[in-house]
Amino acid sequence: MKVSVMSIDKVPTDLGIHGIRFYFELEEDDLAESVSTNAGSSKILLKERYCNFYLPLKISLPHPDLCAFAALKIISPYIGSSLKMDRAISKEMAEYIKGHYQNICNIDVDESLKPISHVTKDKAAISFSGGVDSVAAALLMGKEAPLIMTARTFHPEIGKFEQWNNPKAHIKTLQYMPYDFSKILVYTDFPYLSVNATGSFCVYPDSYAFTIPCVLLSEFLGIGNIITGDIMAAFTGNETIYNKRLTSAREEYLFKSIGINLDYPCNGVSEIITTKIVKDYGMLEMSSTCEYGDFMRPCMKCIKCFRKSIYKWALFDEALNEDQLKIFNESPAIIKFSEDESRKGLSLMPSYKFCFQIINYDFRGNLKKIYDRAMRYSEPVVWVDKKFGPAYISRNKILDEAIIKLNKYAPEMIEIESDIFKRLDWKVAYK
Ligand SMILES: [Zn+2]
Repeated sequence: MKVSVMSIDKVPTDLGIHGIRFYFELEEDDLAESVSTNAGSSKILLKERYCNFYLPLKISLPHPDLCAFAALKIISPYIGSSLKMDRAISKEMAEYIKGHYQNICNIDVDESLKPISHVTKDKAAISFSGGVDSVAAALLMGKEAPLIMTARTFHPEIGKFEQWNNPKAHIKTLQYMPYDFSKILVYTDFPYLSVNATGSFCVYPDSYAFTIPCVLLSEFLGIGNIITGDIMAAFTGNETIYNKRLTSAREEYLFKSIGINLDYPCNGVSEIITTKIVKDYGMLEMSSTCEYGDFMRPCMKCIKCFRKSIYKWALFDEALNEDQLKIFNESPAIIKFSEDESRKGLSLMPSYKFCFQIINYDFRGNLKKIYDRAMRYSEPVVWVDKKFGPAYISRNKILDEAIIKLNKYAPEMIEIESDIFKRLDWKVAYK
């Protein structure tokens, strides 16, 4: 794969003032059809050969190692045996890439180039999505860490696509974050480059691709730490099973190659805790947008809206009224969910059970089915509103203050609670 990266000055003014464009030229052993290990090994297709990032500030082209990292996050599944960047990368970076992507063995190297990982960068930035977990991570980190948001804009050649996925509401969440936070909105069309086999939805072909804007800006802003809102369910498989990655997840191999520490202040807590944090800062209504609703107007028919409503009912005594319950009860998404006994359907049942135990209400119809399924979860759920301490052992100092703030919302699990948490296994709880 040949990759060239260039600055573009003529950008649509509603998207930014400066742009960076990546061109991909496929060589003989490259593929236009591949599988994404990031999306359950499903088939993916490469729709176009270039993509754009539109920035609200002007920067010179990032270090060649950073451009190579970004390129890999966009097109890694399509690369055959070689990666030829228009500006050769450092020898160290090339070794990291060969170690991570075993098929890539030919890389153009500039022996004299100082690796980007040797450049001191000590600040943190939030890779901000606008969802509750991401807002919680930002509030814990505080105003020193700029919020960098990746927002989709349609690709000029691919046209309009997956229109329900509209970033407008999340952009408003960014705007309404406390005024003393720095906010950087980066529009990009790269999410439209890869689609699934039927061409009906976009696929992020590589892990943490949404952090690319943070990576491209890291040299300019001195960012050595990218913070995401990942909660424990991101590592445990949605509260269905315990996963050792929870304590080692921060060692993201490829990020080391660019001297960036990927970190997550919320990886030892559940959504129950991030909801409490965001509520305490008065940001809950502004960050509860669902995929189908608009800013501060969630659809109140989908599963996400139902789950968030149950959390609010249990945690803040904000009960749903009869009309709202009726709409949920008759919603096709809820009916389907009420009958779903698969692993997906059973995920997050510990949190549901925790909330239903607090809510004293006689649910009916399809909601009763969900209630019953949660209550059938046979293991104790006392850990749900606690912090799993081992996830925070010897963490990067940049998180020190965030963890102190987090402790206010989430006391640490005592031994018996963390033992229950470490036994987490949905098959046992539902046998
Ligand atoms: Zn919804």
